[in-house]
Amino acid sequence: MTSEEVRAAEGKYVLHTYDRPPFVLERGEGVYLYDKEGKRYLDMVSGISVNALGHRNSKILAAIGRQSEKLIHVSNLYHMEPHVILARLLVENSFADKVFFCNSGTEAAEGALKFARKWGKAHFGDRKYEVVAFTNSFHGRTMGALSATYKEAYRTPFEPLVPGFTFATYNDLDSARRAVTANTCAVIVEPVQGEGGVNLAGREFLQGLRELCDERDALLLFDEIQSGMGRTGTLFAYQGYGVTPDVMMLAKALGGGLPIGAVLMTDRVAEVVGPGDHGSTFSANMVICAVAVEVFREIRDLGFLEKVREIAAYLRERLETLVESSPLLLEVRSAGLLVGLESAVPASRWVESAYGRGLIVCTAGPSVVRLMPPLVLQEEHVDEAVGKLAEIARELESE
Ligand SMILES: *Cc1c(COP(=O)(O)O)cnc(C)c1O
Repeated sequence: MTSEEVRAAEGKYVLHTYDRPPFVLERGEGVYLYDKEGKRYLDMVSGISVNALGHRNSKILAAIGRQSEKLIHVSNLYHMEPHVILARLLVENSFADKVFFCNSGTEAAEGALKFARKWGKAHFGDRKYEVVAFTNSFHGRTMGALSATYKEAYRTPFEPLVPGFTFATYNDLDSARRAVTANTCAVIVEPVQGEGGVNLAGREFLQGLRELCDERDALLLFDEIQSGMGRTGTLFAYQGYGVTPDVMMLAKALGGGLPIGAVLMTDRVAEVVGPGDHGSTFSANMVICAVAVEVFREIRDLGFLEKVREIAAYLRERLETLVESSPLLLEVRSAGLLVGLESAVPASRWVESAYGRGLIVCTAGPSVVRLMPPLVLQEEHVDEAVGKLAEIARELESE
């Protein structure tokens, strides 16, 4: 198909839930993507923080080949070796004692909320079902995850949502203290908000939430779907904060580009969940788990995360200089390679201009340009990206 044919067929057959740019991406190599016309783009989005190892990674390709030759799928009715290898890696490298796998971030949030409700009811009775989430949160699009998601435009058309959810102000501990009651079973929070504008939680805020949850017998749920898997420079963002949750959700980068989510929890949560309580046909699919094992081993490597921190510091430094010299850029916020640039003009203007220059960036809300490149980014790529952003800044200023 030509690009034009793809666009026409999409308009005719695909439900319109996304506004997409005109180019049609066809292949990738490392940190670069190529469209059908052969135009090259530096990928500073990595499929929304998914392709942490870049495109066409040889270990991922080999794992897909190796495992699909043997078995692709048997379902959760049966034991699966890649499943337990991945679970062991996650447990041995985190606070968690047990893992539940699912197929996406929203499902991970859904699972975490269900386990928290079961825990609340099992220990404290039927009224212990309330959940406190935060302003500007994003936890997914299914009814439960959506109930914990702040954005009105995502919620309102589908109301009534699940009862028992309230919102406190992000980074405001007093607001959280007012919201968490004896009936709260869980507090759900992103240590670094991605979709909500790249907002970093303060250490004291997360520590305060930990204490609050302990005081009022609620579980602390960290949504690390975007911030986990090395994105912020530590394997998980909570490790950088030194605050340990009871439950953590992962997805995005976990599968190296294949769909998988995970709910990690301590034994105190795991012990209330039994056979039949939750499940999924596809989850822990053998090929995906085999790939995730490779991705995990790569990222867990100390040398790997050290490089992520180094390149993140370099990117941050270059962007701070850019912000100083650009009246249209107000601030850079970042946690490792999750970066937000606060813009005085709509962020979509930057995104559209970047496409023309062979650079892929995206937004996080109306005024934030978001960068979440593959973690294997090198200095030369940072120079290329910042150089192009500087050109766009001049272009937008001259209008
Ligand atoms: C992307 C994301 C989700 C939802 O994940 P999906 O795989 O799109 O369902 C939930 N929480 C956070 C923090 C995310 O970034």
